[in-house]
This record gives sequence, structure tokens and C-alpha cells, in this order.
Amino acid sequence: MSEVQIAILEQAKKERRREIQKKSRLKLGEKYLQRHRTEMARGRAKDPERHRKIQKNSYKKHRMERLQKNHLWWKDSGYYARNREQICARNKARYRQLRLMCFEAYGGPKCKCCGEKTIEFLTLDHINGGGNKHRKEIGGAGSKMLLWLKGNGYPSGIQVLCYNCNSAKAYYGLCPHAFIQSPVS
Ligand SMILES: [Zn+2]
Ligand SMILES: [Zn+2]
Repeated sequence: MSEVQIAILEQAKKERRREIQKKSRLKLGEKYLQRHRTEMARGRAKDPERHRKIQKNSYKKHRMERLQKNHLWWKDSGYYARNREQICARNKARYRQLRLMCFEAYGGPKCKCCGEKTIEFLTLDHINGGGNKHRKEIGGAGSKMLLWLKGNGYPSGIQVLCYNCNSAKAYYGLCPHAFIQSPVS
């Protein structure tokens, strides 16, 4: 037998061994999963409250890695790249819907000061200030703020203003409209 032939045979042997190892590993994994599943089911049947607590804690503990993993998979799958435009359009529509819902919750899409009704010009204002602090607390503005407001049952202290009136109020403490006309209520 030549050296090349021997090398080929060795290689084949190695591969076979690897295959067997892989199979046994898979089998072990299956066995473990099965055992784990029956134990989980048993635990759930025995004490549902405790089971729920454990699951909740586990979710909290591994939340970030899980989300990251999902995100990576999502990116790698090419789904985003293939459907980029569609996804962007959908997100925009959702954001618009959410904004509208928030405006409705705070007295309708209309500036409380000047009566501006163009949706694109409108924004939400923290009546007694503290908007920056609030944004820092919840870790963002925009959709994060809107989702926070929705999730917290639209707490009071917020009003609809247009960007002009809002900025004037933020910079000068008072919108010039207040000198010209009384606020529309
Ligand atoms: Zn205004
Ligand atoms: Zn104004």
C-alpha cells in the first residue's frame, strides 16, 4: 500500500469516528431533552405557580442573550435585506398609528396653543417640563416615549403642541402666541 492510500484510509477512519461521536452526542442531547421535558411537565403539574416563577426568572436572566441571538439569526437569514423596503414601510405606518393614538388620548391631533392640525407638525409636550429627565429615565424619545405613554395608560401631564409652540415654550418658557391670543382649549 502506498503512503497516499494509507493517508486516505486514515482520513476515512477519522471521519467515521467523528460521525459516530456526533451521533452519540445527538442521542445524548435528545435523551437529556426528553428527561428535561418530562421533569418540567411534572414540575408544572405539581406546582404551577412555582413553575411560572422559575420560567419568568429564567426569561429575565437570559433575555438579552436570547434577543441578541434572535437578532443575529434575523440579520444572517437575509430576511431583512430582502424585505427592507416593506419592513421600513410597515414600521413607518406603525409609528404613525401609534402617534395618532397618543394624540387622540391627549385631546386629539391639534396644537393646544395655536390650533395647528397638520399631524407632521405635532408633538407631545410635558406640561410642567421635565421632558428631558423623563426621556433619560425611559432611555429614549420617539417611539419609546409613545410606547411608554401607551403602556402606562396615558398618564396626565402631557399635551399636544406643534413643534413651534413646543420649542418656544422650551426656550422662552412661554409661547409668543400666549401674548397674541389665549390658548385654544
Ligand atoms: Zn402651535
Ligand atoms: Zn403657540
